[in-house]
Amino acid sequence: MKIILNILTHGDEKIGLKVAKEIEKLNINKNILSVQIANKKAFEIHKRFIDQDLNRSFPGKKFGNHEQKLAYKLLPIIKSADIVIDIHSTTSNLKNTLIVEKFNKKTIKYIKVIQPKYVLVMNATKNNALISQAKIGIAFEYGKDNNPNTLKKIVADIKKLFKHLGLINIRISKRKNTTKYFNVFSKVHKPKEYKLLKKIKNYKLIYKGETFARRGNKYLIAEEDFYPILFGEKNYKDYFGFRGKKII
Ligand SMILES: [Zn+2]
Repeated sequence: MKIILNILTHGDEKIGLKVAKEIEKLNINKNILSVQIANKKAFEIHKRFIDQDLNRSFPGKKFGNHEQKLAYKLLPIIKSADIVIDIHSTTSNLKNTLIVEKFNKKTIKYIKVIQPKYVLVMNATKNNALISQAKIGIAFEYGKDNNPNTLKKIVADIKKLFKHLGLINIRISKRKNTTKYFNVFSKVHKPKEYKLLKKIKNYKLIYKGETFARRGNKYLIAEEDFYPILFGEKNYKDYFGFRGKKII
């Protein structure tokens, strides 16, 4: 079993460092668990990335810009692991959300062990994300970067998984949480100067024909029912977020 705890895919999401610090206290064999700092250079200058979003750069390029080369270099390492855990933070009001790209049996099993509030099966980013290259890739988007609660919850949930895998022996509460699953299938584009309406909330259904953004007296109207996903993320410039459908 080889697990990678990947942090700082986005160089400004410092929560990854704090998670790694907590997880290292568990003293798990280094042949099994390794911590990988993905974008050190971006982290050093407190930026999300140097040239382009690393999480949209896979499989990468041998001769490219910083993130393209980095993705190319990280690719075999990501592929060699059985499980890749990728730690993020978010500026949108997501709570305890796991993001996966492959919705296979093992991934579902691990999700059921973790019991997050939401699971997003990402089909909208076209295999360019870091976790899309992993056998089993699970990204944590639990909340804001400097929120101690976010940190606590991520660490607690990683521990649940490690206990399930027999790596640690700790007590875990048997409380059952329900998980909602969403298939995330396309981006919602943001025309210039349009602003989201206040009523729009992540995971709250927008109906076909409903208005969701405006610019002066011009409105954007939903062409189909969809759940807004990752709306309000400040790092997206030309789109509001994604369209999701519930998986039942
Ligand atoms: Zn991130």
